[in-house]
Amino acid sequence: MRFSGWRVLREGLTGNKGWGPHWRDATPKPEYDAIIIGGGGHGLSTAYYLAKEHGMRNIAVLEKGYLGGGNVGRNTTIVRANYFLDGNSQFYSHSLKLWEGLEQDLNYNAMLSQRGVIMLGHSDGQMDNLARRGNSIRGQGDDAELLGKAEIRALLPYLNADNTRFPVYGGLLHRRGGTARHDAVAWGYARGASDRGVDLIQQCEVTGIDIENGRVTGVQTTRGAIKAKKVGIVTAGRSGQVAAMAGMRLPIESHVLQAFVSEGLKPCIDHVISFGMGHFYISQSDKGGLVFGGDLDFYASYAARGNLPMAEHVMEAGMTLIPMIGKARVLRSWGGIMDMTPDGSPIIDKTGTEGLFINCGWCYGGFKAVPGSGYSFAHLMATGQHHAPAANYRLDRFRTGVNLMDEEGTGAQHNLH
Ligand SMILES: Cc1cc2nc3c(=O)[nH]c(=O)nc-3n(C[C@H](O)[C@H](O)[C@H](O)COP(=O)(O)OP(=O)(O)OC[C@H]3O[C@@H](n4cnc5c(N)ncnc54)[C@H](O)[C@@H]3O)c2cc1C
Repeated sequence: MRFSGWRVLREGLTGNKGWGPHWRDATPKPEYDAIIIGGGGHGLSTAYYLAKEHGMRNIAVLEKGYLGGGNVGRNTTIVRANYFLDGNSQFYSHSLKLWEGLEQDLNYNAMLSQRGVIMLGHSDGQMDNLARRGNSIRGQGDDAELLGKAEIRALLPYLNADNTRFPVYGGLLHRRGGTARHDAVAWGYARGASDRGVDLIQQCEVTGIDIENGRVTGVQTTRGAIKAKKVGIVTAGRSGQVAAMAGMRLPIESHVLQAFVSEGLKPCIDHVISFGMGHFYISQSDKGGLVFGGDLDFYASYAARGNLPMAEHVMEAGMTLIPMIGKARVLRSWGGIMDMTPDGSPIIDKTGTEGLFINCGWCYGGFKAVPGSGYSFAHLMATGQHHAPAANYRLDRFRTGVNLMDEEGTGAQHNLH
Protein backbone atom coordinates (compact mmCIF):
# COMPACT_ATOMS: atom_id res chain seq x y z
CA MET A 1 0.00 0.00 0.00
CA ARG A 2 1.58 3.27 -1.10
CA PHE A 3 0.53 6.63 0.30
CA SER A 4 0.02 9.54 -2.09
CA GLY A 5 -2.21 12.56 -2.49
CA TRP A 6 -4.22 10.66 -5.11
CA ARG A 7 -4.69 7.73 -2.75
CA VAL A 8 -5.95 10.01 0.02
CA LEU A 9 -8.36 11.63 -2.44
CA ARG A 10 -9.60 8.29 -3.75
CA GLU A 11 -10.10 6.89 -0.24
CA GLY A 12 -11.85 10.08 0.81
CA LEU A 13 -14.31 9.70 -2.07
CA THR A 14 -14.92 5.99 -1.47
CA GLY A 15 -15.53 5.94 2.28
CA ASN A 16 -11.95 5.21 3.41
CA LYS A 17 -12.53 1.48 3.03
CA GLY A 18 -9.24 0.66 1.31
CA TRP A 19 -6.78 1.33 4.14
CA GLY A 20 -5.26 -1.84 5.57
CA PRO A 21 -3.09 -2.48 8.63
CA HIS A 22 0.31 -0.81 8.35
CA TRP A 23 2.28 -3.87 9.40
CA ARG A 24 1.86 -7.60 10.00
CA ASP A 25 1.45 -8.62 13.64
CA ALA A 26 3.70 -11.70 13.35
CA THR A 27 3.96 -14.79 15.54
CA PRO A 28 7.45 -15.96 16.50
CA LYS A 29 9.33 -18.46 14.30
CA PRO A 30 11.70 -20.94 16.01
CA GLU A 31 14.84 -19.27 14.59
CA TYR A 32 16.02 -15.99 13.02
CA ASP A 33 19.27 -14.67 11.60
CA ALA A 34 18.93 -11.64 13.87
CA ILE A 35 16.70 -10.60 16.75
CA ILE A 36 16.22 -7.04 17.91
CA ILE A 37 15.02 -6.73 21.51
CA GLY A 38 12.84 -3.62 21.83
CA GLY A 39 10.27 -2.18 19.45
CA GLY A 40 10.99 1.50 20.08
CA GLY A 41 12.36 3.99 17.58
CA HIS A 42 15.88 2.62 17.62
CA GLY A 43 14.86 -1.05 17.44
CA LEU A 44 12.47 -0.49 14.55
CA SER A 45 14.89 1.68 12.58
CA THR A 46 17.64 -0.92 13.11
CA ALA A 47 15.39 -3.66 11.71
CA TYR A 48 14.40 -1.44 8.78
CA TYR A 49 17.99 -0.63 7.79
CA LEU A 50 19.13 -4.25 8.32
CA ALA A 51 16.53 -5.26 5.75
CA LYS A 52 16.88 -2.31 3.40
CA GLU A 53 20.63 -1.67 3.41
CA HIS A 54 21.96 -5.16 4.15
CA GLY A 55 19.33 -7.43 2.61
CA MET A 56 18.68 -9.29 5.88
CA ARG A 57 15.06 -10.46 5.87
CA ASN A 58 14.95 -13.24 8.45
CA ILE A 59 14.75 -10.81 11.37
CA ALA A 60 12.39 -10.33 14.31
CA VAL A 61 11.75 -7.35 16.56
CA LEU A 62 10.57 -8.54 19.99
CA GLU A 63 8.57 -5.98 21.97
CA LYS A 64 7.26 -6.65 25.45
CA GLY A 65 4.37 -4.18 25.11
CA TYR A 66 3.17 -2.60 21.89
CA LEU A 67 5.28 -1.02 19.14
CA GLY A 68 6.07 2.59 19.91
CA GLY A 69 4.69 2.39 23.46
CA GLY A 70 8.01 3.35 25.08
CA ASN A 71 9.94 6.59 24.92
CA VAL A 72 9.61 6.93 21.18
CA GLY A 73 5.96 7.78 21.84
CA ARG A 74 6.64 9.81 24.98
CA ASN A 75 9.20 12.38 23.89
CA THR A 76 8.83 16.06 23.02
CA THR A 77 9.74 15.36 19.37
CA ILE A 78 12.72 17.68 18.99
CA VAL A 79 15.06 16.95 16.09
CA ARG A 80 18.36 18.81 15.71
CA ALA A 81 22.04 18.53 14.78
CA ASN A 82 23.54 21.27 16.92
CA TYR A 83 25.96 19.19 18.98
CA PHE A 84 29.38 20.57 19.81
CA LEU A 85 31.81 17.73 20.42
CA ASP A 86 33.70 15.61 17.97
CA GLY A 87 31.96 12.25 17.73
CA ASN A 88 28.52 13.59 18.59
CA SER A 89 28.67 16.32 15.97
CA GLN A 90 29.27 13.91 13.04
CA PHE A 91 26.69 11.43 14.28
CA TYR A 92 23.82 13.90 14.70
CA SER A 93 24.71 15.56 11.40
CA HIS A 94 24.31 12.19 9.67
CA SER A 95 21.05 11.55 11.51
CA LEU A 96 19.55 14.90 10.49
CA LYS A 97 20.39 14.21 6.84
CA LEU A 98 18.51 10.92 7.12
CA TRP A 99 15.56 12.79 8.70
CA GLU A 100 15.49 15.12 5.72
CA GLY A 101 14.90 12.24 3.31
CA LEU A 102 12.93 10.01 5.69
CA GLU A 103 9.37 10.65 4.54
CA GLN A 104 10.24 9.89 0.92
CA ASP A 105 12.29 6.87 1.97
CA LEU A 106 9.51 5.41 4.15
CA ASN A 107 6.62 6.73 2.03
CA TYR A 108 5.16 7.88 5.33
CA ASN A 109 4.25 11.29 6.68
CA ALA A 110 6.41 11.77 9.77
CA MET A 111 5.40 15.46 9.87
CA LEU A 112 9.00 16.66 9.99
CA SER A 113 8.80 20.40 10.60
CA GLN A 114 12.13 22.23 10.28
CA ARG A 115 10.89 25.28 12.13
CA GLY A 116 14.24 26.18 13.72
CA VAL A 117 15.67 25.50 17.18
CA ILE A 118 16.87 28.47 19.25
CA MET A 119 19.13 28.10 22.28
CA LEU A 120 19.04 31.27 24.34
CA GLY A 121 22.05 32.91 26.02
CA HIS A 122 21.70 34.93 29.23
CA SER A 123 25.24 36.18 29.94
CA ASP A 124 28.43 37.12 28.09
CA GLY A 125 29.88 33.74 29.04
CA GLN A 126 26.91 31.88 27.59
CA MET A 127 27.06 33.94 24.40
CA ASP A 128 30.77 33.05 24.01
CA ASN A 129 29.83 29.43 24.49
CA LEU A 130 27.06 29.64 21.88
CA ALA A 131 29.50 31.27 19.43
CA ARG A 132 31.96 28.40 19.94
CA ARG A 133 29.22 25.85 19.53
CA GLY A 134 28.00 27.61 16.37
CA ASN A 135 31.49 27.55 14.88
CA SER A 136 31.79 23.83 15.62
CA ILE A 137 28.39 23.12 14.04
CA ARG A 138 29.27 25.12 10.92
CA GLY A 139 32.65 23.42 10.77
CA GLN A 140 30.79 20.13 10.62
CA GLY A 141 28.77 21.46 7.67
CA ASP A 142 25.50 22.10 9.51
CA ASP A 143 23.77 25.42 10.05
CA ALA A 144 24.03 27.82 12.98
CA GLU A 145 23.43 31.57 13.26
CA LEU A 146 24.36 33.66 16.29
CA LEU A 147 21.58 36.18 16.97
CA GLY A 148 21.84 39.32 19.11
CA LYS A 149 19.24 40.61 21.53
CA ALA A 150 17.42 42.75 18.95
CA GLU A 151 17.13 39.85 16.53
CA ILE A 152 15.78 37.57 19.27
CA ARG A 153 13.26 40.25 20.27
CA ALA A 154 12.04 40.53 16.68
CA LEU A 155 11.77 36.76 16.28
CA LEU A 156 10.34 35.91 19.73
CA PRO A 157 8.50 39.06 20.90
CA TYR A 158 6.69 37.19 23.70
CA LEU A 159 9.89 36.42 25.67
CA ASN A 160 10.53 38.31 28.87
CA ALA A 161 13.91 39.39 27.47
CA ASP A 162 14.45 42.03 30.19
CA ASN A 163 13.99 39.67 33.11
CA THR A 164 16.27 41.09 35.82
CA ARG A 165 17.71 37.75 36.86
CA PHE A 166 17.88 36.04 33.45
CA PRO A 167 18.05 38.77 30.77
CA VAL A 168 18.19 37.46 27.20
CA TYR A 169 21.49 38.44 25.55
CA GLY A 170 20.91 36.56 22.29
CA GLY A 171 20.71 33.03 20.99
CA LEU A 172 21.93 30.41 18.56
CA LEU A 173 19.50 29.58 15.75
CA HIS A 174 19.68 26.18 14.05
CA ARG A 175 17.21 26.54 11.17
CA ARG A 176 17.21 22.88 10.05
CA GLY A 177 16.22 21.72 13.53
CA GLY A 178 12.58 21.32 14.50
CA THR A 179 10.08 18.63 15.37
CA ALA A 180 8.57 15.43 13.94
CA ARG A 181 5.49 13.40 14.84
CA HIS A 182 6.99 10.76 17.18
CA ASP A 183 4.35 8.02 16.76
CA ALA A 184 4.47 8.33 12.99
CA VAL A 185 8.23 7.76 13.05
CA ALA A 186 7.73 4.45 14.89
CA TRP A 187 4.84 3.46 12.64
CA GLY A 188 6.70 4.43 9.45
CA TYR A 189 9.75 2.36 10.35
CA ALA A 190 7.53 -0.53 11.49
CA ARG A 191 5.68 -0.50 8.19
CA GLY A 192 8.89 -0.25 6.16
CA ALA A 193 10.48 -3.15 8.06
CA SER A 194 7.36 -5.32 7.91
CA ASP A 195 7.05 -4.73 4.14
CA ARG A 196 10.60 -6.06 3.78
CA GLY A 197 9.79 -9.28 5.63
CA VAL A 198 10.76 -8.37 9.21
CA ASP A 199 8.58 -10.07 11.86
CA LEU A 200 7.29 -7.51 14.37
CA ILE A 201 6.24 -9.44 17.48
CA GLN A 202 4.35 -7.57 20.19
CA GLN A 203 3.50 -8.77 23.72
CA CYS A 204 6.74 -10.77 23.68
CA GLU A 205 9.03 -9.95 26.59
CA VAL A 206 12.60 -11.22 26.53
CA THR A 207 13.31 -12.88 29.87
CA GLY A 208 16.71 -14.44 29.20
CA ILE A 209 19.61 -14.38 26.73
CA ASP A 210 21.08 -17.76 25.76
CA ILE A 211 24.87 -17.95 25.49
CA GLU A 212 26.98 -21.01 24.69
CA ASN A 213 30.79 -20.99 24.63
CA GLY A 214 30.90 -17.21 24.56
CA ARG A 215 28.45 -16.96 21.66
CA VAL A 216 24.82 -15.85 21.69
CA THR A 217 22.44 -18.58 20.52
CA GLY A 218 19.02 -17.07 21.13
CA VAL A 219 16.62 -15.64 23.69
CA GLN A 220 14.01 -16.83 26.16
CA THR A 221 10.71 -14.99 25.93
CA THR A 222 7.21 -15.02 27.38
CA ARG A 223 6.23 -16.68 24.09
CA GLY A 224 8.89 -19.38 24.21
CA ALA A 225 12.55 -19.79 23.27
CA ILE A 226 13.73 -18.34 19.95
CA LYS A 227 17.11 -19.11 18.40
CA ALA A 228 19.17 -16.42 16.70
CA LYS A 229 22.69 -15.99 15.32
CA LYS A 230 22.76 -12.30 16.26
CA VAL A 231 20.92 -10.38 18.97
CA GLY A 232 20.74 -6.60 19.40
CA ILE A 233 19.68 -5.09 22.73
CA VAL A 234 17.80 -1.81 22.03
CA THR A 235 15.69 -1.35 25.15
CA ALA A 236 16.41 2.28 26.19
CA GLY A 237 15.45 2.75 29.89
CA ARG A 238 15.50 -1.02 30.46
CA SER A 239 18.97 -1.54 28.97
CA GLY A 240 20.62 -2.27 32.32
CA GLN A 241 18.07 -4.99 33.14
CA VAL A 242 18.22 -6.66 29.73
CA ALA A 243 22.03 -6.52 29.52
CA ALA A 244 22.15 -8.16 32.96
CA MET A 245 20.51 -11.22 31.34
CA ALA A 246 23.80 -11.62 29.45
CA GLY A 247 25.87 -11.07 32.60
CA MET A 248 26.74 -7.46 31.73
CA ARG A 249 26.76 -4.51 34.13
CA LEU A 250 26.31 -1.31 32.12
CA PRO A 251 27.52 2.16 33.14
CA ILE A 252 23.88 3.30 32.96
CA GLU A 253 21.43 4.74 35.47
CA SER A 254 17.74 4.89 34.60
CA HIS A 255 16.06 8.20 35.44
CA VAL A 256 12.64 9.72 34.83
CA LEU A 257 12.08 12.65 32.48
CA GLN A 258 8.72 14.41 32.48
CA ALA A 259 6.98 16.44 29.80
CA PHE A 260 3.83 18.53 29.71
CA VAL A 261 1.28 19.70 27.16
CA SER A 262 -1.19 22.57 27.40
CA GLU A 263 -4.67 22.86 25.95
CA GLY A 264 -4.75 23.61 22.22
CA LEU A 265 -4.07 27.26 21.35
CA LYS A 266 -3.92 29.23 18.14
CA PRO A 267 -0.40 29.25 16.64
CA CYS A 268 1.77 31.47 18.84
CA ILE A 269 5.20 29.80 19.17
CA ASP A 270 6.83 29.17 15.81
CA HIS A 271 10.16 27.68 16.91
CA VAL A 272 11.63 25.25 19.39
CA ILE A 273 13.10 27.38 22.18
CA SER A 274 15.39 26.35 25.00
CA PHE A 275 16.01 28.53 28.03
CA GLY A 276 19.74 28.50 28.83
CA MET A 277 19.37 29.27 32.54
CA GLY A 278 16.41 27.25 33.72
CA HIS A 279 16.52 24.03 31.74
CA PHE A 280 13.17 24.64 30.13
CA TYR A 281 12.25 24.10 26.49
CA ILE A 282 9.06 24.56 24.51
CA SER A 283 7.47 24.16 21.11
CA GLN A 284 3.90 24.15 19.83
CA SER A 285 2.41 21.02 18.33
CA ASP A 286 0.42 21.00 15.10
CA LYS A 287 -2.73 20.47 17.21
CA GLY A 288 -1.93 23.70 19.07
CA GLY A 289 -0.76 22.32 22.43
CA LEU A 290 2.33 23.89 23.97
CA VAL A 291 4.72 20.98 24.51
CA PHE A 292 7.35 21.64 27.15
CA GLY A 293 9.70 20.07 29.64
CA GLY A 294 12.86 20.53 31.67
CA ASP A 295 15.28 18.53 33.78
CA LEU A 296 15.23 14.91 34.83
CA ASP A 297 13.69 14.15 38.19
CA PHE A 298 16.83 13.93 40.29
CA TYR A 299 16.57 10.31 41.40
CA ALA A 300 16.96 6.98 39.60
CA SER A 301 13.66 5.17 38.92
CA TYR A 302 11.95 2.65 36.64
CA ALA A 303 8.54 4.29 37.11
CA ALA A 304 7.38 5.99 33.90
CA ARG A 305 5.87 8.87 35.88
CA GLY A 306 7.41 11.86 37.56
CA ASN A 307 7.06 13.82 40.76
CA LEU A 308 5.69 17.26 41.66
CA PRO A 309 8.90 19.20 42.54
CA MET A 310 10.13 18.94 38.94
CA ALA A 311 6.68 19.83 37.59
CA GLU A 312 6.78 22.98 39.72
CA HIS A 313 10.32 23.80 38.61
CA VAL A 314 9.39 23.47 34.91
CA MET A 315 6.28 25.68 35.31
CA GLU A 316 8.33 28.33 37.13
CA ALA A 317 11.02 28.34 34.46
CA GLY A 318 8.37 28.58 31.73
CA MET A 319 6.64 31.51 33.43
CA THR A 320 9.98 33.28 33.92
CA LEU A 321 10.83 33.07 30.25
CA ILE A 322 7.38 33.41 28.66
CA PRO A 323 4.92 34.94 31.16
CA MET A 324 1.99 34.63 28.70
CA ILE A 325 1.95 30.85 28.97
CA GLY A 326 0.68 31.16 32.55
CA LYS A 327 -2.76 31.78 31.02
CA ALA A 328 -2.83 28.38 29.30
CA ARG A 329 -4.14 25.35 31.17
CA VAL A 330 -1.94 22.27 31.40
CA LEU A 331 -3.75 19.36 29.80
CA ARG A 332 -1.55 16.48 30.91
CA SER A 333 1.94 15.38 31.92
CA TRP A 334 3.79 12.10 31.59
CA GLY A 335 7.20 10.55 32.19
CA GLY A 336 9.61 8.22 30.43
CA ILE A 337 12.60 6.20 31.63
CA MET A 338 15.92 7.53 30.37
CA ASP A 339 19.07 5.41 30.02
CA MET A 340 21.65 7.89 31.29
CA THR A 341 25.39 7.32 30.70
CA PRO A 342 28.10 9.05 32.76
CA ASP A 343 29.14 11.31 29.85
CA GLY A 344 25.65 11.85 28.45
CA SER A 345 26.55 10.27 25.11
CA PRO A 346 25.25 6.95 23.74
CA ILE A 347 26.68 3.47 23.20
CA ILE A 348 26.55 1.53 19.90
CA ASP A 349 28.88 -1.41 20.20
CA LYS A 350 29.62 -5.11 20.20
CA THR A 351 29.77 -6.85 23.58
CA GLY A 352 32.10 -9.48 25.04
CA THR A 353 29.66 -12.13 23.79
CA GLU A 354 30.06 -13.05 20.12
CA GLY A 355 26.94 -12.05 18.15
CA LEU A 356 25.50 -9.89 20.94
CA PHE A 357 25.31 -6.15 20.27
CA ILE A 358 24.14 -3.21 22.35
CA ASN A 359 22.56 0.14 21.50
CA CYS A 360 21.68 2.33 24.50
CA GLY A 361 22.53 5.39 26.57
CA TRP A 362 20.51 7.86 24.52
CA CYS A 363 19.64 9.79 27.64
CA TYR A 364 16.94 12.38 26.94
CA GLY A 365 18.13 13.03 23.37
CA GLY A 366 17.49 9.80 21.51
CA PHE A 367 14.50 10.72 19.39
CA LYS A 368 16.52 12.87 17.02
CA ALA A 369 18.99 9.98 16.81
CA VAL A 370 16.46 7.37 15.65
CA PRO A 371 17.43 7.32 11.95
CA GLY A 372 21.19 7.63 12.51
CA SER A 373 21.25 5.11 15.33
CA GLY A 374 19.29 2.48 13.39
CA TYR A 375 21.50 3.03 10.35
CA SER A 376 24.77 2.74 12.29
CA PHE A 377 23.64 -0.15 14.48
CA ALA A 378 22.39 -2.12 11.46
CA HIS A 379 25.78 -1.52 9.83
CA LEU A 380 27.57 -2.86 12.92
CA MET A 381 25.28 -5.88 13.29
CA ALA A 382 25.44 -6.80 9.60
CA THR A 383 29.13 -6.20 8.88
CA GLY A 384 30.82 -6.40 12.28
CA GLN A 385 32.43 -3.02 11.50
CA HIS A 386 31.67 0.26 13.26
CA HIS A 387 29.90 2.79 11.05
CA ALA A 388 32.04 5.94 10.79
CA PRO A 389 29.60 8.54 12.23
CA ALA A 390 29.03 6.37 15.33
CA ALA A 391 32.59 5.09 15.65
CA ASN A 392 33.21 6.87 18.98
CA TYR A 393 30.21 5.35 20.73
CA ARG A 394 32.25 2.53 22.30
CA LEU A 395 31.33 0.93 25.56
CA ASP A 396 34.95 0.68 26.71
CA ARG A 397 35.37 4.47 26.81
CA PHE A 398 34.05 4.32 30.38
CA ARG A 399 36.87 1.92 31.27
CA THR A 400 39.71 3.53 29.30
CA GLY A 401 38.60 7.18 29.49
CA VAL A 402 39.41 7.55 25.77
CA ASN A 403 36.86 9.44 23.64
CA LEU A 404 34.52 10.40 26.45
CA MET A 405 32.02 12.93 25.06
CA ASP A 406 30.83 15.05 27.97
CA GLU A 407 28.68 17.32 25.81
CA GLU A 408 27.14 19.13 28.80
CA GLY A 409 30.41 19.47 30.72
CA THR A 410 28.78 18.09 33.87
CA GLY A 411 31.19 15.27 34.70
CA ALA A 412 30.36 11.70 35.61
CA GLN A 413 26.99 12.46 37.22
CA HIS A 414 24.29 10.58 35.30
CA ASN A 415 21.38 12.76 36.38
CA LEU A 416 23.09 16.02 35.43
CA HIS A 417 23.54 15.14 31.75
C1 LIG B 1 9.50 13.21 28.31
C2 LIG B 1 10.56 12.91 27.28
C3 LIG B 1 10.96 13.88 26.38
C4 LIG B 1 11.95 13.61 25.43
N1 LIG B 1 12.22 14.55 24.48
C5 LIG B 1 13.10 14.27 23.50
C6 LIG B 1 13.30 15.22 22.45
O1 LIG B 1 12.62 16.26 22.39
N2 LIG B 1 14.22 14.93 21.50
C7 LIG B 1 14.96 13.80 21.54
O2 LIG B 1 15.80 13.61 20.66
N3 LIG B 1 14.75 12.85 22.49
C8 LIG B 1 13.84 13.06 23.47
N4 LIG B 1 13.59 12.11 24.43
C9 LIG B 1 14.40 10.87 24.45
C10 LIG B 1 13.93 9.81 23.50
O3 LIG B 1 12.54 9.65 23.57
C11 LIG B 1 14.63 8.49 23.84
O4 LIG B 1 16.04 8.69 23.95
C12 LIG B 1 14.43 7.43 22.76
O5 LIG B 1 13.07 7.36 22.40
C13 LIG B 1 14.90 6.08 23.29
O6 LIG B 1 14.98 5.10 22.30
P1 LIG B 1 13.75 4.18 21.81
O7 LIG B 1 12.83 5.00 20.99
O8 LIG B 1 14.29 3.00 21.13
O9 LIG B 1 13.11 3.79 23.21
P2 LIG B 1 11.73 3.10 23.57
O10 LIG B 1 10.64 3.62 22.73
O11 LIG B 1 11.58 3.20 25.05
O12 LIG B 1 12.01 1.60 23.12
C14 LIG B 1 12.53 0.57 23.94
C15 LIG B 1 11.55 -0.58 23.89
O13 LIG B 1 12.12 -1.72 24.51
C16 LIG B 1 11.06 -2.46 25.06
N5 LIG B 1 11.59 -3.42 26.04
C17 LIG B 1 12.19 -3.16 27.22
N6 LIG B 1 12.54 -4.30 27.83
C18 LIG B 1 12.17 -5.31 27.01
C19 LIG B 1 12.24 -6.73 27.08
N7 LIG B 1 12.79 -7.35 28.15
N8 LIG B 1 11.76 -7.47 26.06
C20 LIG B 1 11.19 -6.87 24.97
N9 LIG B 1 11.09 -5.52 24.85
C21 LIG B 1 11.56 -4.76 25.86
C22 LIG B 1 10.19 -1.38 25.70
O14 LIG B 1 8.87 -1.85 25.95
C23 LIG B 1 10.25 -0.28 24.65
O15 LIG B 1 9.16 -0.31 23.74
C24 LIG B 1 12.59 12.34 25.41
C25 LIG B 1 12.18 11.35 26.30
C26 LIG B 1 11.16 11.62 27.22
C27 LIG B 1 10.69 10.54 28.14
